Amino acid sequence: MRPPLRIVIVGGGTAGWMTAAAFSSVLKPEQREIHLIESSEIGIVGVGEATLPHIRFFNKRIGIDERELMAKTQATFKLGIEFVDWARLGDSYIHPFGAYGSRFSGLPFHQYWLRQQRRGDAAPIEDYSLAIVAARMGKFTLPSEDPSEVLSTFGYAFQFDASLYAAYLRVFSEARGVKRTDAKIVDVQLRGTDGWIESVKLDDGSLVTGDLFIDCSGFRGLLIEQALKTGYDEWTRWLPCDRAMAVPCENVGPLTPYTRATAREAGWQWRIPLQHRTGNGYVYSSQFISDDEAAARLLSRLDGKALADPRPLRFTAGRRRKTWNRNCVAIGLAGGFLEPLESTSIHLIQVAITTLLDYITGSNEFDPRIVEAYNRWIEMEYDRVRDFLILHYYATERNDTPIWNYCRTMDVPDSLRHKMELFRQRARVVTYKDGLFLEPSWLAVYFGQRVTPTAYDPLADALPPAELTSKLQAVRDQVHGAVAAMPRHEDFLAQYCPAQKPAMAGKS
Ligand SMILES: Cc1cc2nc3c(=O)[nH]c(=O)nc-3n(C[C@H](O)[C@H](O)[C@H](O)COP(=O)(O)OP(=O)(O)OC[C@H]3O[C@@H](n4cnc5c(N)ncnc54)[C@H](O)[C@@H]3O)c2cc1C
Repeated sequence: MRPPLRIVIVGGGTAGWMTAAAFSSVLKPEQREIHLIESSEIGIVGVGEATLPHIRFFNKRIGIDERELMAKTQATFKLGIEFVDWARLGDSYIHPFGAYGSRFSGLPFHQYWLRQQRRGDAAPIEDYSLAIVAARMGKFTLPSEDPSEVLSTFGYAFQFDASLYAAYLRVFSEARGVKRTDAKIVDVQLRGTDGWIESVKLDDGSLVTGDLFIDCSGFRGLLIEQALKTGYDEWTRWLPCDRAMAVPCENVGPLTPYTRATAREAGWQWRIPLQHRTGNGYVYSSQFISDDEAAARLLSRLDGKALADPRPLRFTAGRRRKTWNRNCVAIGLAGGFLEPLESTSIHLIQVAITTLLDYITGSNEFDPRIVEAYNRWIEMEYDRVRDFLILHYYATERNDTPIWNYCRTMDVPDSLRHKMELFRQRARVVTYKDGLFLEPSWLAVYFGQRVTPTAYDPLADALPPAELTSKLQAVRDQVHGAVAAMPRHEDFLAQYCPAQKPAMAGKS
């Protein structure tokens, strides 16, 4: 029998504990020894609070109980993201977790909707999306598994307290045999022969050895960058925001089942409602506003009383040149960072973990071809998210402050330019095969950012006008009828997952 794979995870933030939870539940105890080292003195970034629907697959794969997780992390449901003031001041659109309408006669729904809109006879496209109508009305229920029902046309994610999430995953992982040490790593020792990581040295002088080192040490990239000098591809020319101020505030009014991103004078502000408080932050470019002014603007635009002082964060958009280098894999902020506009970071952590698990299961030999394939895959995931984020900044008509003038006129990657041209031509949505964001996401952002097609697909003319009118009306009636019967988000939360006291996970 093979000896167990000795996995050392450096870091106990969201990335470290998601990795520990997944590896300890997917690999059999005899296949692995998992040791997580974190420093409670350094702490975690603790601001990743909005997720994407894919996290539910992760939970299912590793055996996390959704109701328990939500109750212990003060979570709410999320049906999408509302974007306010992005294309023009006064605009608002929702990027929904779900489809628009249904597919009739082989063409995507939006082609028929565009035809009707050109005749001046269509309701706004939002009216045909169950996720959007429910979000706007503050309603929620679980989706149906029956594809013939309109209630099957949406998905959902969570908004949770990031510190409680890490604490929850710690309890989950320790119950599956993960060993945790609270200590500071002061040195990383490389093998003389090939430069692979041999051990990390803790502040008490002890050494921790391993076969595979997973760097979840956050922005500092303790192993992947400081020790292995892997290099970083920077994308600030397309994603100019490089700082954030984060502050929680008291809840005011009903808990909305969506995250809000409001474009501001030098970036944008997030609002994430949780059961016990609302998370807020101003993501901005240091070229266009000072830290003090950003903090002051944020504090002046909260729903309720601030519960702490604004916390500053600094970052550089981009990704590590290789996230798997020698026997080290960087996951989370150590691997790269794309700003939180579409809540993609936790998703990228999930992709890294599940891809790594598929590639290494049962083996402690790291074939260079596997390493290369892994790196290619992760690179592609980052690049695709990057293009989608750039679209929000680039496709704006705003000219009221320097950041928007910069973004509106910047050069964008050819991969994005090509997609926008095809959409403008005949409303074709070219998504990436295997990319994170599918047709409804691109549609939401194209329409929301006022990227207007000059024509629709002529095949949409095949449907007789009266039939098209009644079909569209039927979809709209179905959506509104289903939402009317849904419970209020807060009532659903109260019966499904009322918040519990957080599990204590202090220094041991
Ligand atoms: C402003 C902002 C908003 C965000 N919002 C979202 C969001 O809404 N949704 C989303 O999906 N993501 C979001 N993210 C990203 C998300 O916060 C991170 O992806 C996530 O928290 C993972 O962080 P991490 O675990 O990689 O790093 P960290 O949380 O920084 O953890 C690093 C760990 O490494 C340990 N460590 C570091 N150095 C040492 C050392 N020398 N010795 C021992 N231990 C050490 C630390 O103690 C800590 O445990 C946001 C990020 C930012 C900056």
